[in-house]
Amino acid sequence: MNTVSKTPTPIQYRIEPFDPAGHRFRVHLKVEQPDAGGQCFALPAWIPGSYLIRDFARQIETISARCHGAAVALRKLDDHRWQADAAEGPLELEYTVYAWDLSVRGAHLDESHGFFNGTSVFLQVVGQEDRPCLVDIAAPAGINGWKVHTSLPEARGLPGCARRHGFGCYLAPDYDALIDHPVEMGTPLVARFDAHGAEHEIVFTGLVPQLDLSRIIDDVRRICETQIAFFEPDTRRAPFLDSARRYVFLVQVTGDGYGGLEHRASTALLVSRNDLPVLGETEQSDGYRSFLGLVSHEYFHTWHVKRIKPAAFVPYVLDRPAHTRLLWVFEGFTSYYDDLMLLRAGVISETNYFKLLGKTLHVVHNGTGRFKQSVAQSSFDAWTRYYKQDENSVNAISSYYTKGSLVALALDLHLRNASGGKKSLDDVMRLLWKRYGREFYRGLARGIPEDAMPALVQEATGIDATAEIAAWTEGTEDLPLPQLFAAQGFQAGPAAAGSAPSLDIRTRASSDGAGIAAVQEGGAAHHGGLSAQDLIIAADGLRIASVDALNAMLARRRAGDVVRFHVFRRDELRQFTVTLNPAQPGNWTISKLAGPAA
Ligand code: ZN
Repeated sequence: MNTVSKTPTPIQYRIEPFDPAGHRFRVHLKVEQPDAGGQCFALPAWIPGSYLIRDFARQIETISARCHGAAVALRKLDDHRWQADAAEGPLELEYTVYAWDLSVRGAHLDESHGFFNGTSVFLQVVGQEDRPCLVDIAAPAGINGWKVHTSLPEARGLPGCARRHGFGCYLAPDYDALIDHPVEMGTPLVARFDAHGAEHEIVFTGLVPQLDLSRIIDDVRRICETQIAFFEPDTRRAPFLDSARRYVFLVQVTGDGYGGLEHRASTALLVSRNDLPVLGETEQSDGYRSFLGLVSHEYFHTWHVKRIKPAAFVPYVLDRPAHTRLLWVFEGFTSYYDDLMLLRAGVISETNYFKLLGKTLHVVHNGTGRFKQSVAQSSFDAWTRYYKQDENSVNAISSYYTKGSLVALALDLHLRNASGGKKSLDDVMRLLWKRYGREFYRGLARGIPEDAMPALVQEATGIDATAEIAAWTEGTEDLPLPQLFAAQGFQAGPAAAGSAPSLDIRTRASSDGAGIAAVQEGGAAHHGGLSAQDLIIAADGLRIASVDALNAMLARRRAGDVVRFHVFRRDELRQFTVTLNPAQPGNWTISKLAGPAA
């Protein structure tokens, strides 16, 4: 919707990395026509794609307002909003933002680089969200050679327009767009490539000696082309061309980071240095496969959740949680297709694809939380449960990511089985794209109603899967995957258990014992009285100095053995007797049955 006049005056922002050593951005904001009754300003409480209230406004250190050079009083209304006194004429705000959060969700600044999401730094001018936003990105004083990397389009034709990768003015059509193009500035390693004629950039911040950039570009290009052709088999038109001139992967490399956040024409990724391939390396490491999986996942979101959205996200309400029972569609289906697209793009082997799938099957079938919470409930409760996990989560919740990806797998197999191979989940995705996604930023912004999926599946495939979808997404029983696989000529099930017996715990490394991170409900440790946060220091009178020592002890025992454990709980020495369980099943294996291949 856009009800403002044809050429509305833009909101003007200027952001300057003015104190890199102290990690502070300074932002100047000018509103030409403020609300005569006292203009209100707000910072989002959360960032789309990451469903947790983060209170970004707490990082605003100082803030002041002026009109025609005279100070205007600002009053804090709540955790996220300020209101200025009534002013006659343009209102100018100046504020500083502390930026020392090296995640994909926040803002980060030092002498080597700057990164920000608009949700951390750009105040919303309440009531004027539909106006264009002109952003002047300023260079840091006294530091030379930095460049700007973002999918935010340069303000072509306007005074002060930035050159490609330059400081200067950029233009967003509205506030929703402004906060959906993160910005990286500094001296990163940059590579570009085209996928079906659309320009892409990969920007690596952080040192990676000997990085094999051409191998990465080759693999990522194939992933992008496969996904573009999947959604638009006829035109091969990249989705982001409705919002930007190019797609940008902003990659922050650290020692052990992992994560990503999707945007309409870019993504911010946090990856581990050791997961990236170096020159001369020919093997494909597990870490590199997980990097490619992350790339594939966030890129898939360009269609699915950035354009195809639940109605609950149209528009985003950013001052409080936005609840939907459909995250199993948006994160689950995306998690199903991320690795599948690696296989279809030919960047991983079928053997490795089934290995990844077998691991997910194992993770989902491990723990009793899956019997207590459906994926629809998991979606709705993302804000307080999935995003606030603790030691009991394995016993209490299911994941709309992993279980959601298995719902996608089950639905895909069911549709293939019921149609004799003529229809699949691919047909559903293409219908969602056509109906809800393709025109989203071209004036037809609407989302999928909460109860619409069964009808959409039927429309796309002719198959009524209402009962299956209800059972698999609102119910808590295990999905009938072995049967669905068998109908496609595959055998699927957990691998045989190992020989060492099990305590049924998750361990945590400790310098003076074996820490217990989590205890599985109904397992050996639970029955024996051991608890999360206990520190195991001895078994049957012999020292347990580490997790390795605990595992070595277990390897020499058998299921049914009774072991006396000494642990510290709240610094008090306690003793528990535990009867060991048989080993837990391993990752699932999926193999072709003899006979016709799927
Ligand atoms: Zn995701």
